[in-house]
Amino acid sequence: MRPTHIEHIGIAVKSLVEAIPVYERLLGTPCYRIEEVPDQEVRTAFFKVGTTKIELLETIAAQGPIGKYIEKRGEGIHHLALAVPEVSDALRDLEAAGVALIDQEPRQGADALAIAFVHPRSTHGVLLELCQSSRPEEE
Ligand code: ZN
Repeated sequence: MRPTHIEHIGIAVKSLVEAIPVYERLLGTPCYRIEEVPDQEVRTAFFKVGTTKIELLETIAAQGPIGKYIEKRGEGIHHLALAVPEVSDALRDLEAAGVALIDQEPRQGADALAIAFVHPRSTHGVLLELCQSSRPEEE
């Protein structure tokens, strides 16, 4: 697997309504996209920071992954996303190396990305997301 860059950093927040203006102030840039990902039971908000992004995640279901995360650990950094040329190739490489995967196959994520998650038990505690941009013209 050869990541090309850090695609984004995901931050779990209790409320997008509260967090968006805070991050707009902190980053000096407006939120450019809000998107619901029913599959992951989240509503996401994106900010561009140079060539990478910050993704705020709010749960849309108390028992969704972000809802459970905040209940257990509070708000904060939730995952680190690496951009890779092909998510499916990266998954095959990691599987062959014995890395624990959450997703065996890529799925559709927010911001038009094919994504897959790697289990934190194989990464010293970091939930890693692999991302493949399907809109490279916008990079
Ligand atoms: Zn993400």
